[in-house]
Formats: sequence, C-alpha cells, structure tokens
Amino acid sequence: MGSSFTIYLYAANNEQADAVFDAAFEEIDRLEDTLSNYRDSSELSRINRLAARQAVTTDPEVFGLLKTSLDYSKKTGGAFDITVGPLMKAWGFFRASGHYPSPAELKTARAEVGWQNVQLDDTQRTVRFIKNGVELDLGAIGKGYTVDRIVSVLREAGIQSALVDAGSSTLYALGAPPGKNGWTVRVPRPGHRDQTVSTVLLRDTSLSTSGSYEKFFRLNGKIYCHILDPHTGRPVEGMLQTSVIAQDGTTTDALSTSMFVMGPQAGKALLSTYPDAAGFWITGDAASPQLVRWKWPECRQCNGTPRAPEDVLSRTEKRR
Ligand code: ADP
Ligand code: MG
Repeated sequence: MGSSFTIYLYAANNEQADAVFDAAFEEIDRLEDTLSNYRDSSELSRINRLAARQAVTTDPEVFGLLKTSLDYSKKTGGAFDITVGPLMKAWGFFRASGHYPSPAELKTARAEVGWQNVQLDDTQRTVRFIKNGVELDLGAIGKGYTVDRIVSVLREAGIQSALVDAGSSTLYALGAPPGKNGWTVRVPRPGHRDQTVSTVLLRDTSLSTSGSYEKFFRLNGKIYCHILDPHTGRPVEGMLQTSVIAQDGTTTDALSTSMFVMGPQAGKALLSTYPDAAGFWITGDAASPQLVRWKWPECRQCNGTPRAPEDVLSRTEKRR
C-alpha cells in the first residue's frame, strides 16, 4: 500500500498490546496480499488478468469492496472511479516516473477507463469487464478499508482506546485516551508534512486526507498529481489537498479522493448525504492557497502540534 501504518493503543498490559499489534499487522499483510495491484499473486491482480475474458468468481470481501467502490462512482457521477488504472499507467504513476503521455497513449487509456465497464453479479458473486484493457486500482479506498479492518481486530481484542494511522492519509480514532475527550489529530500543510493547517479532536470517527503533493511530477513548472479526473483523463488541477471526517475509513478514503476531483461546491453536496461528515479543501496553488471549510470541527483549544500521550503504546511498520 506504499504506506507506513502506526497503531497507538491502550491495553491491559504489554503482552496484550504485543498480541494485538501482531494480529493487526498480520491483517494489513493479508489485505495487501489480497488488494494490491503491485502483487501479481493478489486477488485483485487475478481479477485484472481474467475478467475481460470471463466472469470471475471472487470472495465476499473483495466483491463487497468492489461493490462499494462502484456505488461511490454512481454517487459521485464518476469522479471516483477504480478503473483509472490505465490512466495511472499512461501518466507514469504506476511502477514508473511521471510523464506526459502521448496523445495516442492518452486516447487508448481513456477508452479503457469507466466504471460502467465493470459488471458485478450479486447472485454468482462474479466480476466481469465488458471490454479489454479494463483494470482495477483500489488506491483510493483500500487503505481506508484496511484501517477499518484493523479497528475490527482491535475491537474484537477488547481494545477501547486506539488511534490507527495509515501514513496520515487515513486515520481512525477508537474511543479516547484515558481522561480525554478524543484523540488530537492534525492535518498537515500541503507539501510541508511537518507543519499543521488544522487540528481536530476525533472520537469513534475517521479522517482522510488526499493531497497533490503525495505523488506528483513537475513539468514546465506545473504540478501533475496522482489523482485523476476520469472525465478529462488528466490529473486534477487547482486542488492542493482535501480532508474529510466521517464514520469510517472506507468512507473517508473514498470521499477525500472524490472531493479532490469534484471541488468544494459539488463536494459539499456529496458530503451532506453522509451523517456528521465534515470537509476541508485547499485549492489554488501553493503560493496563494484558498481554504474552504464545511462543518469543519477545528479544535481551538488544541494548540501546537499534537504529541502522542506518554503512556500510550505504539508500533509502526512500513508497507511498500
Ligand atoms: P493517498 O493514497 O495518497 O491517500 P488517495 O486516497 O486520494 O490518496 O488515492 C489516490 C490513488 O487513487 C491514486 O494513487 C490512484 O491509485 C487512485 N486514483 C486516482 N484518481 C482516482 C479517481 N478519480 N478515483 C479513484 N481512484 C483514483
Ligand atoms: Mg482516498
């Protein structure tokens, strides 16, 4: 998932904490083995290889996530689209360095992209692509889903207070540290991860951030980022960063990418359909960013950069 995961938690003792960390990081490995399109042996890669030729039966978990992903495509009018794979490749964001595609490359990739090209059959639990070249990429939702699975592992182990952090891009706050109202979490400034643009207090809720500075290339002074507008086939322009707070990691991960493509106006309409959702856009360019907040619960009393509580236990592991 190209990310490092950190889990902070309160446990009865070190032994319990170690066992829970082990189980949680095993769950991350399991999901990486299933969902990564960087692994030829993953279930997702198997679907990508076969589904243009035949309907592929998959497991309930992957089927469910694909279904959720297509639902986001419908809800966002196609701004969120897990079939962006060929475009990611054309722009050099997959196992390559970013570059401007040739008109022919772009044309071919655009013809292959489109969530309507993916057919799911509920009764057979199958996935089928209606044309060649279709490719699924769960980069905008898989990390959030993984965070939710980790939270389930923690809950099942009886943990009541934890913060799960997938590379600061998706976080989930379970309960609160003892004696506190929530977990203090910061939103980094675009392009300056050590600086903070917002601090929020989270409790039993998730926060995701998508940024143009996470993966990009520069050409003639312009930045081309890894979030693509499926309608134009081009990297989104004029958006620096989006953050969203909502009920779980799958939702916030999908929404932060969607809001990035849709911009503040259409994005607010989208967020208003989710209970207790809040959004934050940073638009324009780095020299003169514009901040747009919608229902954003800025924590006024949380001053300075939050520090992990001294008594919290944590483990960090990187995944390529
Ligand atoms: P991050 O991975 O940095 O947290 P996102 O959650 O926004 O950022 O996901 C970006 C990734 O999603 C890209 O690297 C790509 O794999 C995929 N992607 C790019 N554009 C779209 C889109 N319009 N819809 C769905 N997925 C996308
Ligand atoms: Mg996302």
